[in-house]
Amino acid sequence: MGQFSEQIAVVTGASRGIGRAISEKLAAGGATVICADVMDCDETVEAITAAGGRAEGMVLNVTDGEAAEAVIRSITEKHGRIDILVNNAGITRDQLLIRMKREDWRSVLEINLDGVFNVTQPVAKVMMRQRSGRVVNIASVVGLMGNAGQSNYSASKAGLIGMTKSLAREMGSRGVTVNAIAPGFIRTPMTEKLNDDQRDALLKNLAVQRLGEPEDIAEAVAFLVGPGASYITGIVVNVSGGLYM
Ligand code: NAP
Repeated sequence: MGQFSEQIAVVTGASRGIGRAISEKLAAGGATVICADVMDCDETVEAITAAGGRAEGMVLNVTDGEAAEAVIRSITEKHGRIDILVNNAGITRDQLLIRMKREDWRSVLEINLDGVFNVTQPVAKVMMRQRSGRVVNIASVVGLMGNAGQSNYSASKAGLIGMTKSLAREMGSRGVTVNAIAPGFIRTPMTEKLNDDQRDALLKNLAVQRLGEPEDIAEAVAFLVGPGASYITGIVVNVSGGLYM
């Protein structure tokens, strides 16, 4: 019996990187994890199943609000409840503002922020009805500190932090907590574009002298959705090795 046994968790962007690590961590704790991604989540589901856990894959582009409603409806019809939602799907389209294409501004906002609205709204209705639930939004330290070349991405993540705090105030009286995690630089396909010089420059600014691992974020998620965090809501947990303090 793990700490999440009998619980139903939904993780977006679960096919790789941080979303995959979060899915594996929650499944190892006994949750049934619905792994949703714009591509299939076969590898994540296979890894969880091979380890003795329970997982299901769902294809979901979070920018499609109607599809998100349909996916959440099908999960509640099948499982009767949703205990945990982790909004993890996200993209970068980095460029200095003066050179940024309008579509790169829009697509980052559409996936990182509108996408969270699309998935969270139907889930929030389920959680408010059942009078319990945990929502964790994966933001970023650049939503707190800014970063040259990431005005679109940092705007989306700062927006997500504001949304997290507002939703925490809306849902607290119904037994639902809503928190955000602000990762620093985590070793995933998203950051593997860094060259050696960029990596060395980055390490100079870290108190803990290594890039983060997806599992570092999964540990923080597991705490926030676990029984020890029932009085914690509306906060941003900074998991950045001291990149931002
Ligand atoms: P990643 O390796 O690029 O994984 C992101 C996942 O989201 C991918 O599986 C991707 O699917 C999926 N996705 C993209 N667009 C989607 C959409 N429209 N609908 C559903 N799923 C979609 O990124 P990551 O590094 O694991 O990042 C996960 C989260 O952490 C993101 O929100 C990111 O902003 C945040 N974060 C990451 C870092 C870092 O250093 N890595 C730092 C701070 C915050 P495809 O594979 O099909 O594209």
